[in-house]
Amino acid sequence: MYIDCHAHLFFSSIPAEAIDEDITGVIPIPNMDFIGKMISNAKEKSVNYIIGVISNPNDFPRYQEQVELENIIHVIGISRGNALEDQPHMISLLEKEIERKVPHGIGEIGLDYAYGFDNLNEHEKNTMKKKQQELFVRQIQIAKEIDVPIVVHAGYGTDKDIVKILKQEQAQDVGGQIHGYMSNEGLVSELLDIGFYFSFGYLHTKEEELKRIIEITPLERILTETDSPYHLLESPKRFILPEDVVLITDKIAIFKEIKPEVFTNQIMRNARELFRF
Ligand SMILES: [Zn+2]
Repeated sequence: MYIDCHAHLFFSSIPAEAIDEDITGVIPIPNMDFIGKMISNAKEKSVNYIIGVISNPNDFPRYQEQVELENIIHVIGISRGNALEDQPHMISLLEKEIERKVPHGIGEIGLDYAYGFDNLNEHEKNTMKKKQQELFVRQIQIAKEIDVPIVVHAGYGTDKDIVKILKQEQAQDVGGQIHGYMSNEGLVSELLDIGFYFSFGYLHTKEEELKRIIEITPLERILTETDSPYHLLESPKRFILPEDVVLITDKIAIFKEIKPEVFTNQIMRNARELFRF
């Protein structure tokens, strides 16, 4: 039995410019038909559980729909991509959803100093970083208030700030998942020391570097994920969906030199322990 430890089932529409002509397979559309199909296709491939992450406040109204679904472990939070918006307002929207139904985790939250930074001047870059850090800190505090783990996005070049903030906020009290991990090895041991799990989706990163990180991550701290539906499989070029966690998990089992069925059982145990379900 497999679990996709990070997917956006209720996602914002994929922008038209991200859809090339040479893409094969289905184009994700955020309606209930598509979402239902995504879940049932996954189930057919023994992906029985999905950790569903809603991290854009525009999608918060759909949180109530998600919590009704079976075997979906719900996580909600505000992404660093929204950091320049009205933070007190977004936080109050988040708190309202939490009040209706306490999630299994707060996420995805964190830092990214590359995505969306291309056209900013130095001053704007610094403002953006500061705003992302404020939003990150505030949400770690919320996770601690309700005693659930955090799901962290750690973009390239954010390593030091991530570790600094997690330590300063004593995030180890709730622990968490470093998702879609693709930064450098330097961060790994410090985060393992404070009890964090690493979640890998090998298809969107450099394989050699990832292999080294997987090597030093103990089995009982590994999770696997697709981050659906935002990434593309290279060949055939198509959107990666929760069912593809089978490919990802089996491939990482090979890196780790462990039998696939032993590995998938371990991933399930790890996810259950962290997200308490
Ligand atoms: Zn994600």
